[in-house]
Amino acid sequence: MQLNYLAFAIPLFLFFMLLEYLVARHKRKPYFNFTNSVANINVGIAERLLDIFTTGAFYFVYDYVYRHYAIFHFKPGIFHWLVLWLFTDFIWYWYHRLAHEVNMLWAVHVVHHQSDDFNYTVAARITVFQAIVRTGFWAVLPVFGFTAPMIVTMLLIHGLYPFFVHTQLIGKLGFLEYILVTPSHHRVHHASNEAYLDKNYGDVFIIWDKLFGTFCEEQEGEEIVYGLTEPLGSHSFLWQHFHFLLELLYTARQTKGLWNKLKVLFAKPETIAPDARSALEQKFGLRQNKGPAPEKLNRYVLWQVAGILMLLFLFILFESQFPLMVQVAAALLILVTLINCGAILEQRKWIFYLEFTRCLLLLLIVLIYLPTISSLLFIVLGSLLAVVYFKELQRYYLQWVYS
Ligand SMILES: [Zn+2]
Ligand SMILES: [Zn+2]
Repeated sequence: MQLNYLAFAIPLFLFFMLLEYLVARHKRKPYFNFTNSVANINVGIAERLLDIFTTGAFYFVYDYVYRHYAIFHFKPGIFHWLVLWLFTDFIWYWYHRLAHEVNMLWAVHVVHHQSDDFNYTVAARITVFQAIVRTGFWAVLPVFGFTAPMIVTMLLIHGLYPFFVHTQLIGKLGFLEYILVTPSHHRVHHASNEAYLDKNYGDVFIIWDKLFGTFCEEQEGEEIVYGLTEPLGSHSFLWQHFHFLLELLYTARQTKGLWNKLKVLFAKPETIAPDARSALEQKFGLRQNKGPAPEKLNRYVLWQVAGILMLLFLFILFESQFPLMVQVAAALLILVTLINCGAILEQRKWIFYLEFTRCLLLLLIVLIYLPTISSLLFIVLGSLLAVVYFKELQRYYLQWVYS
């Protein structure tokens, strides 16, 4: 049986998150907040999930560019791997810097910076849209003669390092501070303090920041405030993913003239209309004061996240064994659950409709896997009963979840 061993990255990263949590708790450091951590992990789950469907396309892009536009053709040797490592890091620096300076790119990178906490769970806050944009930047690599298998391998290795710089538990690292991006450097990058804004874009090497004038050292007396300069204050999965894109469109609509509208897309994030966020929050009924979520609610969400993490692990591990229909249905099931978790934490009443959709998806997967008359009968009967008792079920469910 062909297994995808990359699935083991999930328990490995979870292990480090748990370890960091236990050490922080032991040291009585308030580095973890339950809802923030769940929101962070949920963003990561969606990315890993959608990655299953996009990895092939990314490989195809690198391979296509190599075969048609490569200037050089190297035989991979140790020297070329080293050059590729440096080159990948250099491109990352410029991708990351532009992601902070250009509205259209910030719309996908902003998700990484929304957390008010700073710990290993924040490293999971990468979206599939960011992966797509990054691929555009990395498509330069095959032009310089690096093959698709080389690039994909390098991106895997290169992608491991940044996870470990998302921590407050590690102080400064002596001489390594001169060469590598350290936790201290990356804390500065995630800060919303005026003095720290738009600094330390590097991924593995800090040399690029020093070279291009964006380096800033963590100062003793300057306590870091993490997150966006204008905090989002929402756990909604969808709002976290799309709020800036909507703010951008809102600003473009307010701007007169086609040329000026287009310029908004490429301008710096501070050009966004100051009232964009509040106008959209009002439109979508966000920011209602709902008070802290009850303990029971948190437990319910925690079980759901544990469940989908398990599902995702098995899904990636046995990826090649499932027919496409099951893959798509299971992916939808996980995505609906993620939206659901955010909505539960936000204490939204409409989550019952999502729960209903989720159950139907689950039944659909059963039917695809067991296409027998008895399972069909069971599903049709179950769905009919659910439709007939819809109102009662809804009342019972909302009472159960929100007391
Ligand atoms: Zn950033
Ligand atoms: Zn980061």
